Amino acid sequence: MPEGPEIRRAADRLGRVLTGKTPEKVELLMPGLIQHAAKLSGQRIMGVQPRSKALLIHFDGGHSLYSHNQLYGRWYVVRIGKTPRTGRSLRLAIHTRDHSALLYSASDIAVLSAEQLERHPYLCKLGIELLDPETTLADVRAQVEDERFRRRSLAALLLDQAFLAGLGNYLRSEILYVATLPHDVTLGAIDAEARQRLADTAFALTRQAYRHRGVTNDLERAARLKAEGLRYGQYRHHVFAREGLGCWTCETPVERVDVSGRAVFFCPHCQAS
Ligand SMILES: [Zn+2]
Repeated sequence: MPEGPEIRRAADRLGRVLTGKTPEKVELLMPGLIQHAAKLSGQRIMGVQPRSKALLIHFDGGHSLYSHNQLYGRWYVVRIGKTPRTGRSLRLAIHTRDHSALLYSASDIAVLSAEQLERHPYLCKLGIELLDPETTLADVRAQVEDERFRRRSLAALLLDQAFLAGLGNYLRSEILYVATLPHDVTLGAIDAEARQRLADTAFALTRQAYRHRGVTNDLERAARLKAEGLRYGQYRHHVFAREGLGCWTCETPVERVDVSGRAVFFCPHCQAS
C-alpha cells in the first residue's frame, strides 16, 4: 500500500496538471456516484491535498472529491486523448484541455461538501499529518507526549493514523530502526529522550522518503550502494524487507516478526530493548 510520501508525490503530480484548471469533463464511473459529477462540472480546481493515505481534490464550488486508494488504486496522468496501458478498471477521470488525471481500481471515492468533509469518518480521526507543510517538529514532539498514547506499543502506534498520519509499514520499521527502538515496548515505557528521538526521526525520515523517492536508508550510504551496482530495492531501506540480510551498521542479520498480521523488520543488535 502506498504510504504518505507516495500519496503526496501522487498529489504533486496531479496538482501540476489540475490546480487552477477548470476541467472540460469530470467522469465518476462507479455506480451510485455517476449523478454526483454534475456537482463538479464547470468548476475550477483549487488544489490537490493529501490527507494521510487519502487524496482530496478541492473545487471552487465548495465540493471536494475524496479518494482513498486502499490496496489497488492507482492514479495516472496522461496527455489528453491517451490511455495508459493497464488492465485495471477506470473509476474516475478528470479531463482538462491538455491532460487527463485517471484513477483506476480504487473503490473508496466520494463527492463531499465542506460539512461532510469535516465529519468524514476517515479524515476526522487523523492525527498529526507528518508531511503537511504546516506541521512542525514541535507538533510531532507534543504528540508523542500525549497521555492518550502511552499504553500502546510502538509497533501499533506507528500504524495508527490517529497518532501520526501518513505512516505505513515500511516507514514503521525504518523509523524504529533509525531511532534505535524496539517495536514491542509501549510509548510510556521509553524515556523522554527516546520519545523525542522517535518524534524527530518520524518527522525527518518521512520527509526524506517524500523528497527521495521512498529511500529511507542513509542517503550517502544509498548513493554509495547504488554506485556499487545495487538495485533500488536493495539499497532503499535500512531493514524493511531485508530479513536475513546483514544490518548495514553492525552486520547482524535483520529479523522479521508479524505484529497483527503485518511485518516488522528490525536489527536485534541495534534495536535491543
Ligand atoms: Zn544493526
